[in-house]
Amino acid sequence: MTIPSPSPETLLDRQCEQRSEPGYLEAVLKSAARRVVVFHRGKALMDAGSLGYLDPAALPAEPLAGTTHVYLAKALAGHGLPNGTDLVLQVLPYDAGDLAWVPTGADFAGYRDVASTLNAGDVEVFIEAQAVANWHATHAFCPRCGGPTESLCAGWMRRCDKDGSEHFPRTDPAVIVAIVGPDDKILLANNFAWEPNKYSTVAGFVEAGESGERAAVREIAEEVGVVLDSLSYVGSQAWPFPRSLMLGFMGYTKSSASTPDNVEVRATRWFSREELQAEVLNGNAGIPGRLSIARELVERWYGGCINEPGDAVDAAELVAPGATL
Ligand SMILES: [Zn+2]
Repeated sequence: MTIPSPSPETLLDRQCEQRSEPGYLEAVLKSAARRVVVFHRGKALMDAGSLGYLDPAALPAEPLAGTTHVYLAKALAGHGLPNGTDLVLQVLPYDAGDLAWVPTGADFAGYRDVASTLNAGDVEVFIEAQAVANWHATHAFCPRCGGPTESLCAGWMRRCDKDGSEHFPRTDPAVIVAIVGPDDKILLANNFAWEPNKYSTVAGFVEAGESGERAAVREIAEEVGVVLDSLSYVGSQAWPFPRSLMLGFMGYTKSSASTPDNVEVRATRWFSREELQAEVLNGNAGIPGRLSIARELVERWYGGCINEPGDAVDAAELVAPGATL
């Protein structure tokens, strides 16, 4: 099942209200029908190329000291697991021993290394688990008084043992903008951190007390020297590396002038639809991966799927440039 991103559709029911009830997580942890997603040092346990949903019988009978449990969700129809399966995240302590219990063929992997092989259900679970695991890893102590905190509310709140203050997983908003200019061309940027032929949209963090729209205008002016005349919001994507929420915009400008900042952005280039598709196919331009909101923004402008070298494509299924998705 494919769910384009961004989309309001979900394959999970997080049970947000129910999971905070006393004993909810503890009851799930006694159920043999639950399935367990295991994280260690920011990576998920994979099983034969898919996210691992371990039978609890495959886990050590007693969790390692320092293990954190989080209720993730019930799987919904279409996820791939039986409808209603309870999913629990088990975050292992940093020093987790020899992990000899890990099933043969299973191994830990980072999201970026496996994202292209995951189905939509695995992506949704992986991203949720990554976000909450990252938060637990960095919030063992209270930001107010430095006292130790404990995990409560099925892993969705930490409370300070000293002053009783309550702390919740944080998300940092960031903006990502596809710039459309004269002749309906798109301006893509090459970042110093990338190969010289990779191009993508421009992104940056929203500052404290700043709206997403103003952040978009500011970031575009700073990084590529373009003055945007208008914006339209497209949608968002959770990107927990470590805790971002990407707010995707189309940004429009009447000027074709652009100036890379030479700090983050090495170069910019305007593409027509025909140029971009041709340059991608001949290898002169790499574009963001298909699970990213950056790719979604570029393909919104393009009006369909952009084909890459090696794609098995029936020419009759190609979407004409300019068509509405
Ligand atoms: Zn405190």
